[in-house]
Amino acid sequence: MNIRCITLGNFLVNSYLLQDSTTGYSIVVDTGDGPELADALTSMSPMPDVRAIFLTHAHFDHAGGLVDLQCKFPEAIAYLPDLERQLFDILPKQGSVFFGMSELNRPCGRIDCYVKDGDIVKVGELCFHFLSTPGHTPGQGCFYNDKYVFSGDTLFAGSIGRTDFPLSDPKLMSKSLRRLFKELPGHLLVYSGHGPSTTLEKELYSNPFLEFIRCERGIVKDSDS
Ligand SMILES: [Zn+2]
Repeated sequence: MNIRCITLGNFLVNSYLLQDSTTGYSIVVDTGDGPELADALTSMSPMPDVRAIFLTHAHFDHAGGLVDLQCKFPEAIAYLPDLERQLFDILPKQGSVFFGMSELNRPCGRIDCYVKDGDIVKVGELCFHFLSTPGHTPGQGCFYNDKYVFSGDTLFAGSIGRTDFPLSDPKLMSKSLRRLFKELPGHLLVYSGHGPSTTLEKELYSNPFLEFIRCERGIVKDSDS
């Protein structure tokens, strides 16, 4: 599987294009907030055969480009965490409510499948598990396999997702992070919603926001990172 990161929009959201070399099928993880990703993908040669769109959560900077993507790739199946329905429904208003921006005057796009904790999503020969990690939003989640985890705004290199937004929950975030590091192996490469990639193990030993987990587990922090 090839992975390409495309960073989009004012919020510098990472969108990922996963391409299965066996079938040629592609998955997009998060869409950015506008037509930028759809334009980038349709100008690639050869154009990727997008079969699925995974949304880690329904903030407009991650899901606002869904409708544009579906115009160009109408067959792609869109997956959204089940607990994100409420946030997805108000997607066009999020910019004005959260950031004082003008309302997005456009449709949200179509969700085909709602994923729940423990679900497995198969796209051709690619297979991903879904781990629900609420906190940043009510249903934010991670899609992972035996090598990679697409963590959305749950975990970043050296940081974690904000929990001061409406519908965020800091206590749930701590619970989710604890679970993420308990259930997933440290070698997984983390592809986050913003910023560079990292590994779970590196974050466990160095991320300043994970001190509570290190304390609980008696882990000593890496001093130089
Ligand atoms: Zn977000």
